Amino acid sequence: MAKHVYTFGAGKAEGKADMKSLLGGKGANLAEMNLIGVPVPPGFTITTEVCTMYNELGREKTFEIIKPEVEAAVALVEELTGTIFGDKENPCLLSVRSGARASMPGMMDTVLNLGLNDVAVETLAKKSGNSRFAWDSYRRFIQMYGDVVMDMKPASKEEHDPFEEIIDQLKEEKGVELDTDFTTEDLQELVSRFKAAINKVTGRNFPAEPWEQLWGSIAAVFNSWNNPRATLYRRLEQIPDDWGTAVNVQAMVFGNMGDSSATGVAFTRDAATGEDIFNGEYLINAQGEDVVAGIRTPLTITKVGSKRWAQLQGISEEERIAQHPSLEEAMPELYRQLDEAQQLLEDHYKDMQDLEFTIQEGKLWLLQTRNGKRTGAAMVKIAIDLLEEGKIDEKAALSRIDPNKLDELLHPVFVPKALKEAKEIASGLPASPGAATGQIVFFADEADKYETSILVRVETSPEDLGGMHIAKGILTARGGMTSHAAVVARGMGKCCVSGAGSVKINYRTRVMTIDGVEYNEGDWISLNGSTGKVYEGKIITQDPDLSGNFGKIMDLAEKYTRMDVRTNADTPHDAKVARDFGAKGIGLCRTEHMFFEGTRINAMREMILATKEADRRKALDKLLPYQREDFKGILEAMEGYGVTIRLLDPPLHEFVPHEPANQKEMANEMGITVEQVKSLVDDLHEINPMLGHRGCRLGNTYPEITEMQARAIIEAAVELKQKGVDARPEIMVPLIGTVKEYELQAEVIHETAKKVFEEKGATVDYLVGTMIEVPRATLVADKVAKVADFFSFGTNDLTQMTFGYSRDDAGKFLSVYIEKGILKNDPFQILDQEGVGQLVRMGAERGRSVKADLKIGICGEHGGEPSSVMFCDTVGMDYVSCSPYRVPIARVAAALANIEK
Ligand code: PEP
Ligand code: MG
Repeated sequence: MAKHVYTFGAGKAEGKADMKSLLGGKGANLAEMNLIGVPVPPGFTITTEVCTMYNELGREKTFEIIKPEVEAAVALVEELTGTIFGDKENPCLLSVRSGARASMPGMMDTVLNLGLNDVAVETLAKKSGNSRFAWDSYRRFIQMYGDVVMDMKPASKEEHDPFEEIIDQLKEEKGVELDTDFTTEDLQELVSRFKAAINKVTGRNFPAEPWEQLWGSIAAVFNSWNNPRATLYRRLEQIPDDWGTAVNVQAMVFGNMGDSSATGVAFTRDAATGEDIFNGEYLINAQGEDVVAGIRTPLTITKVGSKRWAQLQGISEEERIAQHPSLEEAMPELYRQLDEAQQLLEDHYKDMQDLEFTIQEGKLWLLQTRNGKRTGAAMVKIAIDLLEEGKIDEKAALSRIDPNKLDELLHPVFVPKALKEAKEIASGLPASPGAATGQIVFFADEADKYETSILVRVETSPEDLGGMHIAKGILTARGGMTSHAAVVARGMGKCCVSGAGSVKINYRTRVMTIDGVEYNEGDWISLNGSTGKVYEGKIITQDPDLSGNFGKIMDLAEKYTRMDVRTNADTPHDAKVARDFGAKGIGLCRTEHMFFEGTRINAMREMILATKEADRRKALDKLLPYQREDFKGILEAMEGYGVTIRLLDPPLHEFVPHEPANQKEMANEMGITVEQVKSLVDDLHEINPMLGHRGCRLGNTYPEITEMQARAIIEAAVELKQKGVDARPEIMVPLIGTVKEYELQAEVIHETAKKVFEEKGATVDYLVGTMIEVPRATLVADKVAKVADFFSFGTNDLTQMTFGYSRDDAGKFLSVYIEKGILKNDPFQILDQEGVGQLVRMGAERGRSVKADLKIGICGEHGGEPSSVMFCDTVGMDYVSCSPYRVPIARVAAALANIEK
């Protein structure tokens, strides 16, 4: 019989770290922590498979199946804690938390203090000798249970949480400011008002029976897997819907049992910079939510960190020691134990850990550990540091790199001069680095109101995820370095300043006030997430410089990759940028862009206007020298590497003007009438140009175009060779679907090359190959390969034609398709391995079946997308090609593909 529940406690565990798919990340780590001797409250994990079963069979059937195992597990917790679940004298209190395979911070719900009711609260008060604590725990439990299990949510975004409204109301009545000012009687009043509110809104009573509470909470965790914010998070992070979440049930430990209790969150290294500095935040006499919810600003764990924090906040050393002491100063022995545990955990997992801890009346408990989310810069630094510390090997260091996250390192910073002139208006914590400038919005669902927006909130919550994704930066008035805003922004690589205390926000009037100055929605502000500073107005940004550890990662990628990475570039400048990033050649030079520069467009239009071959040739002769110079520049910039130059591809209508004013201009320039221009434009009009007269269909109807381009390429290469430059041209025919289409073009190219060699009395090596981007080409790839030197998969067009989705119009329905789950993601961004990928694989296999050493690459946008790059490796491609700034990402992805094979 399948096992559904895995227990842990007192140094024993039925699970272990490598069981993440079954136990979720949290559950697997709780088991592992027990096994390595870290103090963890006992408990059990209900597996992710049960979540899937729950979604299939429903609550009743599923709970019937797992009931005996859950009851046995609760009995074990009772035994290890010396308590009894539901007992009057000695109640066992539990926490219930979700825990998926991949970390989804703050995405799902948690219930704490489960097991409390009107009787147990009195017992807890008596046993702890602290009735305020007991009633505070009880009101928190009802609040969480009401929210998570009984669905007591705010009615609209302008409304507050219904429980918080009751709290605010009572504060007003009692004339107090903070939660901590409430007396036991106040808390008792809250409990009764909470219960009444639940009854009024839901028509049901808050359940007093602990087993009912437990099953309700387990169901809520399973239900939360499908709540909108978890669904959105999965979509953004590409986590499959069918993974399910585990449920972790654990004995409660209390960080709010008085001044010898505390709770906190810590990182074994700095998650923003990657420095090897233990850091984190804690609150005395508090429960977990208090630290991350951003309601009370937490204290810093280490003394060094505390001093840094005080400096940033402009707080004096005396005030810091008196009011904001570090854990190291406030509880030195417990700090020592925590420091020991964090070292043990990092050494064990060999990666930076993000941990949660609670101190209950002087005893330390670790509640969770996981690989910490980090910025791109921290990711690179930590990987290299761990390697250089001898803790991991080179391959492991590389596998610590999430290629997509390297993108952050390529992100802009403020132009120093512009920054000097900027007016600083506030400062907060440097929660997530980078620079951002944009217009103020106050609601996440309005983040797309402006082209670039800054989301300004008192604090953020998981509901704000969508808007945080859209905004260029995030500013919060409350919260610390581990607040929701900070953690999520770092995960997204988005600039964030948190806890800027001088920022006052009025959501109703949509005004932010700083030191008496008002800023309205739509006003420009700028954030520096690396220093925590906030500026008035717009500040220009610039690209960062890359050196040090980034370079070391690139060296490792170089060492372990099998595939090369080329770039898609049409100018010597782009070629050089890409080469500096490590590109080994050009995989796609789109020649059409070259026809727009300066006066060339006139010659191009002359060519298009020509009705006779002789006139076309005359116009092409004018274009030839331009093309030759372009190719010389690019071939020289990529000296020593292959440069794939594609023959003219787009439909000709793209080269003529469609606006009346521009048509008039063209008529003047070319000495013809506007009517002639109009009639030309009409002639070129196609109902469906993407499937029309384009690609090699142009070269086959007007071979003289191919001839001119081939001549320009070969002449450029010969001239460079004569100068001593190692130019390696590869001429590529676009959009073929039949062998003959290719053969005729190849013939023109070879004949032209022969002529040039005779004229110049010199030769160069060159290749002739083809794009594989029409589905039919993949089907006849074996026949094509007999006559082609190389294949380059054009997965943009291949995706367009395989799905039958227009590249230009799919935006209208793709988002709906993704929302409805018809598609997992945009197939133009992430290669559809299931469908389009089959054609790619088949094309490659058929090609190599007749020519084992056929050179194969990809030049569609997918060539810079990590999961697609990994796929290309499995197909056996020689290279992937992508835009210059994606080159580092593709290089690491290519190396990872090779390592993970
Ligand atoms: C392609 O179709 O994948 C390709 C690279 O060509 P283009 O995007 O220029 O059509
Ligand atoms: Mg194409």
